[in-house]
Formats: sequence, structure tokens, C-alpha cells
Amino acid sequence: MQQYDVVIAGSGPAGSTCAKALKDEGFSVLVLEKEILPRHKTCSGVLFGQTQELIRAYFGTHVPAEVYCGNKFVEADDIREWDDEQGYIPYTWEIDKDGRKFSRTYHNIWRDKFDKWLLDQSGAEYRDGAKVKAFDAGGSTVDVHVHMSRTNESAVFKCEYFVGADGNDSTVRRLLHAQNPEYAQRHKLASYQSYYKVKSLGSLKPNGWTVFLRQEIGDYILCVHQKDEYLVMHVGGMDGRNLRQSMEKFKELLSGRFGVSFGEHWRDEGCTCELLPIFLGQEKVLVTGEAAGFIYLNCEGISAAMDSGYRCGKAIAQALRSNGSSARDLYGEACRDILQHMDRCMSQMHFLA
Ligand SMILES: Cc1cc2nc3c(=O)[nH]c(=O)nc-3n(C[C@H](O)[C@H](O)[C@H](O)COP(=O)(O)OP(=O)(O)OC[C@H]3O[C@@H](n4cnc5c(N)ncnc54)[C@H](O)[C@@H]3O)c2cc1C
Repeated sequence: MQQYDVVIAGSGPAGSTCAKALKDEGFSVLVLEKEILPRHKTCSGVLFGQTQELIRAYFGTHVPAEVYCGNKFVEADDIREWDDEQGYIPYTWEIDKDGRKFSRTYHNIWRDKFDKWLLDQSGAEYRDGAKVKAFDAGGSTVDVHVHMSRTNESAVFKCEYFVGADGNDSTVRRLLHAQNPEYAQRHKLASYQSYYKVKSLGSLKPNGWTVFLRQEIGDYILCVHQKDEYLVMHVGGMDGRNLRQSMEKFKELLSGRFGVSFGEHWRDEGCTCELLPIFLGQEKVLVTGEAAGFIYLNCEGISAAMDSGYRCGKAIAQALRSNGSSARDLYGEACRDILQHMDRCMSQMHFLA
């Protein structure tokens, strides 16, 4: 059985940044990713100002050219909500944190490439096609039970600490909550995106990102922006809403009201998610990123995932060194400012129709 200081489930921004914090401190780290890499993630793929700062601060580098879309930047001022009476009005996706203002030029990237690049930058060992199924934290170390899809075999990895950075539908969080029946009954939001080649933007603002709040089409934001030669459209709904129908109605709105003309269909993608209450894990099993409930204004999540992941990694490193401190307590203490910022963001959240 292979043994590591820390095993992390999930190779998204939270998992990779947690791994980077631990590798920087000299610990052995294994990242387990259930998908084959580079893996797809339903996302608008925009790096907001804070995210750009965190990449520089935690990874000491810049995102390479091949990760960006051809239309590399989205200006905050070009993100607009459309209101039938007022026309285009400002829509805010990121607010200052602790008096710090962030760049208002956002980066338009492809998530599969970005996440794989970030993982490589962490320097951690990883296995893809490695789905965490269960863990046993009853002994002095944690045993992580995994299904390896490349070989269709089971494997067990031993570690001092196990981290669930496995996103909104977190297996690790669910296993920790197994005794809590309320958790299983929570309502889910669903997100659905379609990509079409752009024939004509009509009167939609070029290089813009347009947001609509229309109860008759979706329960939360509808939005559209461009990535390379594609228009990416997002619709969202609560359990049971027919999102294919919502997407058809959204396309009708864009073509009817704005004269948008769609070319060839490329792909559809979707996921379910929910705004989870914060839960950091317990003892030797911690949870971070969206799995722990970290997300900012209007579901800007990459920065919250990276920042919480990094602090989780640092807390574990400190606990491993001091042999006696509680990593969970250190992690909670380190995340105070993130939680305060989340509260501020929550009070300004504007994404339900
Ligand atoms: C439609 C949509 C658009 C968005 N647009 C943006 C945006 O433009 N900018 C932004 O900042 N945020 C955006 N977000 C939010 C952002 O995508 C997430 O908050 C962010 O990806 C969370 O990062 P994470 O590392 O916590 O989790 P994830 O990125 O979800 O990564 C979790 C990883 O864990 C893996 N995993 C899951 N279960 C297991 C398991 N059992 N074993 C092993 N691996 C597992 C998954 O495959 C995945 O790779 C968007 C979200 C949605 C739904």
C-alpha cells in the first residue's frame, strides 16, 4: 500500500492549490482525480481579478498563452445585465476584499487547460481516472479507497491527512455527513450551457458578457459571452426545471430581441450545484474549495477554491510539523477573512430571477 503525507481528492483549483502549499513545505502529496485529464468542467471560464492575484501569490507565475481563449480579456465594464425597460445596466461579479481593489480586466480561459496547467504547477504526484469511493479514518492514518478506471481495479492509499477538494457534489463531504439525514434532502440548482459558432452577434455588445434575470426562462441567471469563435450560453434552474426548454427560449430571446444568428452547434454541458453551508471537515479529514462551501459573489468560485485550498494545505503542514495542533482549528482560523468576504458577497448576491 502506498503512503503519502497527504492525499487530496479532486484536481480542480482547490485541490491543486492545496497540493502546492504542501509541496512548498516539502510534504509528499498525491492528488486523485476521478476523470481522465485534462477533464472538462462546466464553467464560464473567467479568471476574475482576485484569481489572477492568487495565481501570482501562490504559484509565482502567470497563466500561459495556450490556456487563454482567442478573445483573451473580458472587461468588468463590459459585463452588463439587460433590462427591458432600462436597456444595459451594470452587473457586478466581483467586489473589493478588505479594501483591496482587484483588476477589472478579467481573463477568458478554457477550464480543462487551466486546471491541468495549475495541477502541473503544483508539483504534486497525481493519478487520473481515480475515483475516491470511501475512506477509513479510524486508525492512526487514513486509508483512502479508490476505483481506478484505467485498469478497472481498486486501490488503497494511506496518508496522514486526507483532503476532499472534490467540488460541489463532494463524495468526501457526503461520507463525513453520512449520519446526517438532512444533508441528503437538500435542493439542487442545475446549470446548463450550450456552445454555438457565432454567425452574427446582432446588437449584442461585442467582447461583452450579458446577463438576464427572467423567471419565465430560468430560475437564476441566464448569460452569454464569447469564447474563441463560440457563443457560450448559460441557463439555470431549480430541481425539475426543463433546462433544454430554457435554452431554446433563451436562444429565441437572443435571436428575436438582439438579432443574434447561431452557426453550428458544438457541445452542451451541465452540472448540479448548491450553495452549501461552510463545513471544513474533522480531525484527519478536511474539506476545501466548493466542497467546503467556499464561493463568492454570483458564484465566482475559482478564487475562493484556490484561497481556501492554500490555507487548508498550510494548516495541515503546520499540524504535521507541530505534531499535536489541530489542522482543522488552524484551517478555520486561517479562513476567517474568506468567510467575512463571503458574507459581504452574500449580502450583494444578485443571481436569482
Ligand atoms: C455554470 C458555471 C459557471 C461558472 N463560471 C465561473 C467563472 O467564470 N469563474 C469562476 O471563478 N468560477 C466560476 N464558477 C464556479 C467554479 O467553477 C467553481 O467554484 C470552482 O471550479 C470550484 O473549484 P473546486 O476546486 O472547489 O472544485 P472543482 O473545480 O469542481 O473540482 C473538483 C474536482 O474533483 C473531482 N472529483 C469529484 N468527485 C471525485 C471523487 N469522488 N474522486 C476523485 N475526484 C473527484 C472532479 O472531477 C473535479 O475535477 C462557475 C460555476 C458554474 C456551475
